[in-house]
Amino acid sequence: MTKAAKIAIIGAGIGGLTLGLACQKAGMKVKIYEKASKLHDIGGGILLWPNGQRYLQWLGLGHLIQSHYIKVNDSQIIGTDGEVVFHQSCEPVSQRLGGTVFPIDRSFLQMTFANELENKSLVLAKECIDICHEEHEIKLLFSDGTVDSADIVVGADGVRSIVRGFIKENSYSNYTGYCWWGGIISQHDVPALPTDRVTTILGVNKVCIVWPLNDNKFMWYLPIKMAENELNKAAGWKQIEALCQDWNNDTVKQIIAAPTNSRNFNLPIYHLSPLSRYAHGRTVIIGDAAHAIAPILGQGANLAIEDAYTLFICLKTFPTDIEKAGYSP
Ligand SMILES: Cc1cc2nc3c(=O)[nH]c(=O)nc-3n(C[C@H](O)[C@H](O)[C@H](O)COP(=O)(O)OP(=O)(O)OC[C@H]3O[C@@H](n4cnc5c(N)ncnc54)[C@H](O)[C@@H]3O)c2cc1C
Repeated sequence: MTKAAKIAIIGAGIGGLTLGLACQKAGMKVKIYEKASKLHDIGGGILLWPNGQRYLQWLGLGHLIQSHYIKVNDSQIIGTDGEVVFHQSCEPVSQRLGGTVFPIDRSFLQMTFANELENKSLVLAKECIDICHEEHEIKLLFSDGTVDSADIVVGADGVRSIVRGFIKENSYSNYTGYCWWGGIISQHDVPALPTDRVTTILGVNKVCIVWPLNDNKFMWYLPIKMAENELNKAAGWKQIEALCQDWNNDTVKQIIAAPTNSRNFNLPIYHLSPLSRYAHGRTVIIGDAAHAIAPILGQGANLAIEDAYTLFICLKTFPTDIEKAGYSP
């Protein structure tokens, strides 16, 4: 390859958009293919930890979203009788990490980055279903029957990545048995919730977690144990309603009853065992496609941003030969 490499990114999640935007700003030729038909109003919130924020700054992208960071001052756990069983200021964590943890609406971040991309470089409703390595390029096949080509393919296609299968055979993610069910609600509908606190409300054999988000919103979610073949949305919501019926907490009842205006989600949690390689030929993987972890500490988006940074540096250093770059997340 002697001409500028054509980079195809599969997936417009946090990792794909961060990498795509950084590469484009550096003058590289990038196209992002996303299977979803829209990016707005999907999913919940993510936590941006100081590591994620730092890498976004280094890529020159942090300023795009930082005016929407919400400061969380403390965290509280409410017991089954409504008593405070734990209270912790965020200050010691901030001091230790050298920065604050900010929750942010995932789809707001996606939309903000997508709007910065050059015209026509993000293609929605484009599901990649196959990749063929040819002598001088890679052919991408899409579910609508179309074909495109690229010099380098980046799998930023999440925990159920199809690109991963072309790098490491038999590298399947396993369902953990838990799914997050939740929604995004307005502060107006649950005025008792503090806007500067992460609140965890305990029930009997269940827990509801709520974070503040930008634009006077909250994200709430309940981790639910559920078989993979029961993840059908309607059945899941019925199970949540049934679970919450006997919850002795008015705030939880208000949270569940609050309108989500279609901003509800279910996020099955998958685990991926470490891989022995993350790049093969002219194909690489980043983010959850490479190393999905359970979202207990909310590091998934931050690690995807770190990977995007690492791969960006590799692509800048070896613009035509990704194998030489020795990328590893
Ligand atoms: C809809 C959704 C909602 C989420 N909500 C939360 C949340 O509320 N809180 C939280 O902590 N984490 C959430 N996550 C997970 C979190 O965003 C990721 O763990 C983290 O950001 C890592 O990002 P990623 O870019 O590697 O992968 P992801 O964020 O999973 O993005 C992968 C993208 O690739 C697309 N894609 C997948 N396969 C193909 C294909 N074959 N062709 C084209 N496109 C494809 C997907 O539609 C998705 O947009 C969510 C993920 C998704 C997909």
